[in-house]
Amino acid sequence: MSVETNLARVRADLAAAARAAEREPAAVTLIAVSKTHSADTVGEAIAAGQRHFGENRVQEAAEKWPALKRQWPDLTLHLIGPLQTNKVSEAVRLCDAIHALDRVKLADKLAAEMSAQGRRLSCFIQVNTGREPQKAGVDPHDLAALVTHSRDICRLNVVGLMCIPPLTEDPAIHFAFLRELARRNGLTQLSMGMSGDADVAIAFGATHVRIGTAIFGARQPQAA
Ligand SMILES: *Cc1c(COP(=O)(O)O)cnc(C)c1O
Repeated sequence: MSVETNLARVRADLAAAARAAEREPAAVTLIAVSKTHSADTVGEAIAAGQRHFGENRVQEAAEKWPALKRQWPDLTLHLIGPLQTNKVSEAVRLCDAIHALDRVKLADKLAAEMSAQGRRLSCFIQVNTGREPQKAGVDPHDLAALVTHSRDICRLNVVGLMCIPPLTEDPAIHFAFLRELARRNGLTQLSMGMSGDADVAIAFGATHVRIGTAIFGARQPQAA
């Protein structure tokens, strides 16, 4: 299947999920997750009208995206993977949105870099809804404090929450929980749903779905 065909099918599926949930299809932003895929493959998606993309590593984004963004200035690049503080400067330069803000120190560093560079990226706070020890994301119990710190003290543009449900659990429980956490914290956007569960995420209010495999096909494993 071509990227163009896959994209058309994914868009149709997302629109159907939105309508089934009595939501506007336009209220759901499709982020095409292009990690591990070449700039040429990304180009096929751009040619098919895709404008929002996601990468999970700053290093890979730095190799691929500056040239693409020069050629297509209206692209929006979302960093969806964990961010180390020593990569923040590069991430702020390259990306337009950060989906994995999950600690105070990172909020401080992002705020300092954004003011130094005169850039204002949208930030999603990642919540470890399954409280998995190996997974990134703030513990749900610490979320309110991190929202206050990031939004009110650091003055970051915190727009919403993000989660990656545990593989072995019903994602619906985690999506419902994330929606409730966002409501309690006065946040309106929800980055949730991947190739296997985007329809469920949309039923629970996802505003941003992050889809890789269904658009670009299977990935080679990333080096550690
Ligand atoms: C890779 C990745 C995705 C996309 O996953 P698919 O199952 O390929 O759709 C979504 N979110 C994050 C954080 C990812 O790292």
